[in-house]
Formats: sequence, structure tokens, C-alpha cells
Amino acid sequence: MDDEQGALPAKEDFSAWYNELLWRAEIMDVRYPVKGLYVWFPFGFALRRNVYNELRALLDCDHQEALFPLLIPETELAKEGEHIKGFEDEVYWVTHGGTSPLDVKLALRPTSECAIYPMYHLWVRSHADLPIKLYQIVNSFRYETKHTRPLIRLREITSFKEAHTVHATWEDAERQVGEAVRLYRAFYDSLSIPVIISKRPDWDKFPGADYTIAVDTIMPDGRTLQIGTVHHLGDHFSKTFSITYEDINGEQQFAYQTCYGISERCIAAVISMHGDDRGLVLPPSVAPVQVAIVPITIGKRKEEVLAAAAEIEQCLCAAGIRVKVDSREIRPGAKYYYWEMRGVPLRLEVGPRDIDAGQVTVVTRLGEKSAIPRAGLEDGVCTALAGFSAVLTKRAEEHVRTHIQIVASIEELSAAVEKGVAVIPWCGKRECADFIEESVNASVLGTEIRSEFIPGQTGPCAACGREGTGALVGRSY
Ligand code: ZN
Repeated sequence: MDDEQGALPAKEDFSAWYNELLWRAEIMDVRYPVKGLYVWFPFGFALRRNVYNELRALLDCDHQEALFPLLIPETELAKEGEHIKGFEDEVYWVTHGGTSPLDVKLALRPTSECAIYPMYHLWVRSHADLPIKLYQIVNSFRYETKHTRPLIRLREITSFKEAHTVHATWEDAERQVGEAVRLYRAFYDSLSIPVIISKRPDWDKFPGADYTIAVDTIMPDGRTLQIGTVHHLGDHFSKTFSITYEDINGEQQFAYQTCYGISERCIAAVISMHGDDRGLVLPPSVAPVQVAIVPITIGKRKEEVLAAAAEIEQCLCAAGIRVKVDSREIRPGAKYYYWEMRGVPLRLEVGPRDIDAGQVTVVTRLGEKSAIPRAGLEDGVCTALAGFSAVLTKRAEEHVRTHIQIVASIEELSAAVEKGVAVIPWCGKRECADFIEESVNASVLGTEIRSEFIPGQTGPCAACGREGTGALVGRSY
């Protein structure tokens, strides 16, 4: 995979750019012979591991990781009426063991409420057992009938982080919803991805939930990508699965629950938000290689240069930096191309002139060039990596800010959703949302918007003129 295979399509042609970049940067191979299932290349998998380590580190502060089975008996899956209705068209079924039909069909988990809650029924006994906060990172399966797309719309979601909590009261569960939103914000901050938090309309909430809070970001083409959801489940599932606890007065009470999830769409967001015409641009927090060292070995001092590069690699490695020396026998330009495609935040160039000057030349993935003194190189590189993260955050915020418009009428909305998302006053009535959606061919995504890019908004509903508040409207993936 090198420049002989032609240039990456411009990012302006987002869909073509995205598809090409996935294999050129060795993230995913889409040639697996089952529709909607993709293969992680080792480089993509290393990125995945780093991203999920960030998420794990945040969750591990007060959650515990566990692992529940992939197979869910039909009898459990069918228990919660709304929940099964929401998923029945998407479930894969295991119907046979060898050649014998199974007595009870087994579903491949589309999500794990019905795998986890029968166990919560056994585990929760007293108020002293609460709260319970578990999560798992697993694959899950959905028979998608829409156009599938790597990392975005899959039949095997390979990296579903799902957390499931149990609380004594509705209010405790609501506090956990707030805590989960805070965690997700911190997670996306670490990836330099700005997010918009909103409450999904009632008809778009998780099947079986009281309400759903969604985390969206805006893709390069202006469409939104849902990259996390947090659900207040109320006592719907605890009543279905009989999850009860004895309160301090010795009375049996139904528990209250939440669940919240993030899939590999978080990686799709990293790739799409930061990448450019030359390939990936990765935040240092998750880049599999943070620093690539390219020895400039022209002329007689080749051995000396290679030795200096190896020494620098060792010193950065000891400082905990993910670093690689590229000593392949190819021209430096080909190496630059290779590491740029893979989004490596910093490239260090070491040549005879750098050695003589007691310095190292540093070029960021976005082309900023500077020199760092050889003495104190570790600190200089750490500062450069932090600076690079800050630049990515600023760029991404600028992208999101310029793709949101605050509008007051259907005419303005119609123009705005061609370029990005819009916020328009809406009274909360379904028929008005239907009218808005049909008028502009976009969706009412949420209300109670929490975003530093969007001021609180009130005004007459764009459809009926009654008092309304800001609703997020856009076209989503
Ligand atoms: Zn209205």
C-alpha cells in the first residue's frame, strides 16, 4: 500500500474518501464474505485498543467490567414487550445445535438487557447491594437492512461498550444518567471530538426506556452521527425481570435502572472529524504510533544517523511515548507519505545537520515544522504532542460551530439542513415534528440541547406558532 496506488480522493467527496482511507490506512478490510461484517487490520485494531482503553480508564473509576453470554433465549428476549418490538426485525437467531432443532431459539444479542437482567434478578437482594454499575465491551449483532457502512452501520457491532446500572430510586437512576453524560463528554474530549447532547423525541427513544439522551457529532458532510446514548429505564425492566430489593423498612421494592452505550462509531468519528486529504490525523491520546522517526541518511554519516535515531527512539520509549524508527531502505518522501496516511501526530527527522546542531527537526501531521533541542527531547516531544491535541480540538470545534445554524422559519431551516444541522423552535407535538421533517427532509433529533455551540432558544413553533423551545434538526447517518 503506497503512493503507487494513486491519491486518496479529496475529503470533500466524503463517502469515497472514507471508504478508501479505511483500507489505505489499514483500519478495516471490507472484503470479508458476509455483508455488514468487516475485519480489523492490526493497525486499526491498535487504534481500537487505545480508544477503548481511554473509555475503560474513565469507567473503571466507579464501574466494574464483566462479561455476559452472546446467546439470549427467546423466552428472555420476548419478556419486555416494547423492547422486543423495537428489535424483532433485527435479531439473528440460532435455531439448531448441529442438525437438531433447539427447543428454545437463541438470539445473538442485539444488546444485552435480556442477558444481564435475569442475572440482576438473582444478584440484587437488599438496598445494601445497590447501586450496581457494570459494563462490558462485546460484539453484538443486528440484521441491518439499510445500506451498511464500516464502523457506522454494521451487522456485527464488534466493539459495543454497554453499561448497565441498578439503583434504589428513580432519582438515583437519573443522577446516573447525568454521570454517564459527563463520562461520555470526558471520553470525547480525550479524542478532540466536540459533541452535542440532546434528549431524543419520545418516539425515537430506546425501546423500553423512560427517556434517551443522545450524544451526536457533526460529520464532514454536515450529517450527524450518533456516537453514544444514555437511557433511563425507569422500572420497566425491573418489573419485567423482577429485580427487587428489600429497603431499610424490610419492604420489597422494584429497582430503577439505566443503560448506556458506545460502539465503534466513536472510531468512525475520530477518522472522519480529524482526517484530511492526505489520510488519517490521529489525536495523540489514541494514535498507535505517536512519533515516527525518519533518519535522513544521505552521504557518509549513515551509521551515525541511524545510531542517533535508535538512541532517540529508546529515550522516547522510556518516557512512555509510542515511537517507531522507520529505517526502511526507501526514500524519505515515501516514508512521510506512509506515516501521514496513518495519522501519526509527529514526525521527527534526524540528519547529519540536526546532529551537528544538537537538535531534532519536528513536523506535525498538519505540517507545522520546528526544532527541539536534543537535550530535554522527551519534554519537548510531550509539549508538542499536547499542542497538537489542542490544535485538533480547536479545528474540530470550528467545524462543528460552522455547521450549526440557529433558525426561526421552515424556509431558513430548509437551507440550513443542506449544510449541516439547525436549531429551530418546536412546541413538542408530534404532528408539528412530522410537518417539520416532511418540509425539509431531515429529522427532529432532540430537544433540551446541551452544547456550548448552541444558545438556549425559545420562540414560536415553526409549524404551529405555539410557544416552543429549540429542537435540533438534521440529517443523520
Ligand atoms: Zn407546534
